[in-house]
Amino acid sequence: MAFRTLKDINVRHKKVLVRVDFNVPIDSRGRIADDTRIRAAIPTIEYLLRKQAIVILMTHFGRPKGVEDKFRTDILAQRLAELLKRPVYKYDDVIGADVEDSINVLVYGEVCLLENLRFYPEEEKNDEGFAMALSELADVYVNDAFSVSHRAHASVHAITKYLPSAAGFQLQKGIETMDRALHNPKRPYLAVMGGAKVSDKIEVIENLLKKVDALLIGGAMMFTFLKATGASIGRSLYEPDKVALAGKLLRKARGKIVLPVDCVAAKSPKSPAKVVDVRKIPSGRMGLDIGPETQAIYAQMLSGAKTVVWNGPVGLFEVPKFAKGTFALAKTIAKLDATTIVGGGDTIDAINKRGLGKKFTHLSTGGGASLDFFAGKTLPAIKALEENYARRI
Ligand code: AMP
Repeated sequence: MAFRTLKDINVRHKKVLVRVDFNVPIDSRGRIADDTRIRAAIPTIEYLLRKQAIVILMTHFGRPKGVEDKFRTDILAQRLAELLKRPVYKYDDVIGADVEDSINVLVYGEVCLLENLRFYPEEEKNDEGFAMALSELADVYVNDAFSVSHRAHASVHAITKYLPSAAGFQLQKGIETMDRALHNPKRPYLAVMGGAKVSDKIEVIENLLKKVDALLIGGAMMFTFLKATGASIGRSLYEPDKVALAGKLLRKARGKIVLPVDCVAAKSPKSPAKVVDVRKIPSGRMGLDIGPETQAIYAQMLSGAKTVVWNGPVGLFEVPKFAKGTFALAKTIAKLDATTIVGGGDTIDAINKRGLGKKFTHLSTGGGASLDFFAGKTLPAIKALEENYARRI
């Protein structure tokens, strides 16, 4: 990876524009449900403060259509202030003379947060003029938002044309850990894939099959694979138009793809559930979690693994009686003496619910970005950092 990191760049007494991902989940009362994403940026922010930089933070928040009050970044600034135990100044715009004037009265070692980047449609259009206006706020740019790095958006891509740029600690650690898992993993190397659809994960599965020793499948996507083997899957969720492809992947994998043997099935998520043979699900039932025998087989296969990549819950984990498989897996992987990487908000949510977050090497909230990374794709924002370095901007 040929890009600058925070320690390669002079930030002392500089105005440093940092792209963070504070896109936290909000509960029904409008409060922050989980501040993991804000906490994740703290090492970078504190380093910059120790270096007496002026720290200008920018983030997207939700999916606003134009300017919408409920997507203003004020609550994010408040939470960050609590975590940092210092004031965080919040501005009501992202670019322009008012924001520049406000920044100009800050002193070294102060922090501010701009308004929601996505109030400007130019952000997602990777607009050069918008990126240039952002760059006028600062001397140096830092990207600490891995989860948006698979997008060519102005605040992670076009901006690197205008300022000396570097990766923040969170981005750097994420990329380094995942790069090692992709290109130079310690073995045995196992991947676990769950979630709703095979179609979202085809490229990752194809790429990981070339690298891993085994790929354990769970979630609704297992039924598309099982269907391809002629199993009776009852009313389980599956993708009819992906059955042929699943069959092709199974043949290509030559035994590396491992499918569940039992599952927890019910007439609907609200009805009573029972454990059944995954290949003989009664016609009125659907499989909603992996069963205890599968949990044991997967735990056995994972024991001794030295690298594990996990993406997607293995059951309908939002409903407690179908969460056991996902929680058991979280516990199994947490205990391993291995590099363990988890991608995707749902899976991380399940891990955090069990208080296991600290037991994993790397939790990547960016589901899309980590899937693209493990699919072997070049992430546009990372490429932009590399080009910035190559051109010595
Ligand atoms: P994804 O976004 O593809 O990772 O899918 C995650 C979603 O898949 C979660 O909301 C899970 O509840 C859901 N899911 C996992 N397994 C099943 C299943 N067997 N049946 C229905 N939904 C499932």
